[in-house]
Amino acid sequence: MNALLKSLPLLLATSTALAAPHQHGQAYLDMVLEPPTLLISISSPLANLTGFEYQPATKEEQSRWEQVKQDMQTPDLLIRLPEDADCSLSRVLLQSPFATAGAHDHGDHGDHGDHGDHGDHGDHQHADLMAEYQYVCARAEALRQLELPIMQKYPDIERLRLQFIAPDRLHRIDINAGQGHVELP
Ligand SMILES: [Zn+2]
Repeated sequence: MNALLKSLPLLLATSTALAAPHQHGQAYLDMVLEPPTLLISISSPLANLTGFEYQPATKEEQSRWEQVKQDMQTPDLLIRLPEDADCSLSRVLLQSPFATAGAHDHGDHGDHGDHGDHGDHGDHQHADLMAEYQYVCARAEALRQLELPIMQKYPDIERLRLQFIAPDRLHRIDINAGQGHVELP
């Protein structure tokens, strides 16, 4: 069990997403299978999911962000593993994209004094959302295809770069908008 827990940060460290440029429209799906454990990580510019990349300020932004967080904690809504593989989710890790971008203007909530100054959203600060999921799959050999409802749910993801690593195979597949199914032969 310890080995499993240790391999989770390792995936973060080796995931292609970290080395990849922040490019709107593009997201990353990394899967590492070490039977029976399957680790999945999703990494995306926040803009693909929420439409913005700053700490939510308005009510609409706040509820959009809450919705995205909820989706990300429910991976069945994003990636559907084949039932035959008999995978059960054992762990979810969601990294807050705002951890480092903390001190945005938070205080002036009820105080709408001067509206002239909206400039601080102009000098774009980018943010990425990363989520990790750990599964235990009783029949890992059945992981030969995926359904990707994430592509319908988040149409701003124009291209999802999938990397699937298993002891006996490696797949790198670019999935385009509108494509909801992928084979992993
Ligand atoms: Zn960005």
